[in-house]
Amino acid sequence: MNEIEAIQNQILQAKEIRWIKQHKFKREHKSTIISFKFNIPSWPKNSNEIEKAFKKSRFGFCSYMKNNHQELTFLEQNETILGPEVFFLAKGDPEKVKKLSIKFEESYTVGRLLDIDVLGPHSDQHIERGTKRKCYLCDKIAIHCMREENHTPIELRLFFDTLLKNFVKE
Ligand SMILES: [Zn+2]
Repeated sequence: MNEIEAIQNQILQAKEIRWIKQHKFKREHKSTIISFKFNIPSWPKNSNEIEKAFKKSRFGFCSYMKNNHQELTFLEQNETILGPEVFFLAKGDPEKVKKLSIKFEESYTVGRLLDIDVLGPHSDQHIERGTKRKCYLCDKIAIHCMREENHTPIELRLFFDTLLKNFVKE
């Protein structure tokens, strides 16, 4: 196995562990479980700046949900090869929780950098977005830009870092 394959393996493993954890929490609590993290292009996925921005947006998300009458309970926070991630338990209707999460992703300063997955108590799959996500850099559909390779990893990372830097300073 070469170095790239080894890293790809670690990424897959981290995603698998995240998925297993979210399902374990769902079974344990019989509730909706939210997985909240950044979608970080390229490397590194852990830094002081990322950590600061993560704390700030985690707080922003909890306040936003509270203002919309959704009480979240903190379950666990981890630092993985993919960056920081946190799990919350939500008591409200899963569809409503997902809709609010999408609104947050679309309206918050660094919302487009966030990836918020909602798993309902009676489902084995994350709730679908309904509308497709928009790209970081342009207003096209994100998956389209990824497939067409419209932006280089360096461009994406530069955008991510700049947005994060300004956000942390705010
Ligand atoms: Zn794009």
